[in-house]
Amino acid sequence: MPQPTPDHLPDRIQHFIDGAFVDSVDGATFDVLNPTTNEVYIQAASGQQADIDLAAAAARRAFTEGPWPKLLPRARSRVLHRIADLIEEQDERLAELETWDTGLPITQALGQARRAAENFRFFADLTVAQRDDTYKVPGRQVNYVNRKPKGVAGLITPWNTPFMLESWKLAPALATGNTVVLKPAEFTPLSASLWAGIFRAAGVPDGVFNLVNGLGETAGDALVKHPDVPLISFTGESRTGQVIFANAAPYLKGLSMELGGKSPAVVFADADLEAALDATVFGVFSLNGERCTAGSRVLVERSVYDEFVSAYAERARNVVVGDPSDPATEVGALVHPEHYEKVLGYVEIGKGEARLVAGGERPAGLEDGNYVQPTVFADVKPEARIFQEEIFGPVVAITPFDSDEEALELANGVKYGLAAYIWTNDLRRAHTFAQNVEAGMVWLNSNNVRDLRTPFGGVKASGLGHEGGYRSIDFYTDQQAVHISLTDAHSPRFGTSK
Ligand code: NAD
Repeated sequence: MPQPTPDHLPDRIQHFIDGAFVDSVDGATFDVLNPTTNEVYIQAASGQQADIDLAAAAARRAFTEGPWPKLLPRARSRVLHRIADLIEEQDERLAELETWDTGLPITQALGQARRAAENFRFFADLTVAQRDDTYKVPGRQVNYVNRKPKGVAGLITPWNTPFMLESWKLAPALATGNTVVLKPAEFTPLSASLWAGIFRAAGVPDGVFNLVNGLGETAGDALVKHPDVPLISFTGESRTGQVIFANAAPYLKGLSMELGGKSPAVVFADADLEAALDATVFGVFSLNGERCTAGSRVLVERSVYDEFVSAYAERARNVVVGDPSDPATEVGALVHPEHYEKVLGYVEIGKGEARLVAGGERPAGLEDGNYVQPTVFADVKPEARIFQEEIFGPVVAITPFDSDEEALELANGVKYGLAAYIWTNDLRRAHTFAQNVEAGMVWLNSNNVRDLRTPFGGVKASGLGHEGGYRSIDFYTDQQAVHISLTDAHSPRFGTSK
């Protein structure tokens, strides 16, 4: 079902460099598709080395010569709050564009727009509350930490919830006084083009925010290898993270890597099973299943397994799939035909590996666009590819277990370690399991509700480093140790013995 085209779409998507909208130096563009028809609806400027060079130079100039890094935290905080206000004022427009470009259901896109505003508010507040350490060696020294922005931050983001994930990097990078070059995902460049107007209206000086659209292998690669960009914050696939790691190594860059996931949701028989059902269905089918922290493996204690699987399958069959702009829609269209083929490929693999209990096809009546039925596989063995590999779509693998030990072995038996969700009313079991599960983030009896102060990040193949709260401040700043002697310097007097 095609979506209604939003009013006043731009005629093309450009870069934003040094305070001006510009095309690529060589005029290159790439096609952007609407996921409900897969028709090309716009051309976006395709950044190359020359465009990244211009953006990095502008950002470098704004860092070394401009006022931004030297402003008092309160002054930057005011600008960030204005950015949050402006995002909130246009949240519906933002959601409309995001839904058009990504296929995300409109109600969920609206939630993500508001979350983007909240990210700016949070870091606006945190930057004024920031304090640094001072150490006293009584009578001898006072030593303190002089925290400084690092310079030009390279931000590389994926296509799932693009605007919100961009805000997650932009807000702390800017709050701490850095300047930035953002390279958004090529599947979904539309909402990123709104940043320029928002930043300008909020009073961000020219050159502080620069945006270069383009493919990962060209624009992204040039940013990773740019000598004047000392840090890269990347969110995307684990495989891409490996490539970026290798490419950044000769430059010894600061790297933050938020990568893929195959997170377990573990349901014990003593849990509130209705609440677990609500959360585990939402946890994998919300955001079209295109969610890094999706609970895409549901592990269920055998005594309640059959009952849980049939209730789960029933819910999945009733999930409303359709036009992403319809507020009733729960699962929209997957982002791009390439990704759609990948997800359907896994559905076919799953049919040979496990028992299909819901979905598995294109939904009836949705002949065009990247629609797939919410799909549930049961009795999935741990060696199955659909148990091990990130699918990043509305596809879930359900597996039974007989003991806490087996549940933990299953939960940890994949290369990823992003999130884990544990459902039990046994306090000791909940905490023992939480502490032993190999995941950067754990939710007990809850779906993914974030407290922005807590660390965000994965272990194993799900990432390196943490962002979130003060960890983001740490990533985007250098902590210089300044030592002050309170006594005469007692240096051994070399060269005085003759
Ligand atoms: P991707 O790795 O294909 O692309 C992410 C970004 O990297 C895009 O902007 C792309 O253009 C760029 N890129 C690709 N190759 C590059 C290269 N060689 N050098 C520099 N940049 C390059 O990921 P995707 O398909 O856009 O996003 C989905 C993935 O992101 C999933 O694996 C998902 O789990 C992960 N993700 C992780 C988190 C997290 O916080 N851990 C959050 C959201 C998404």
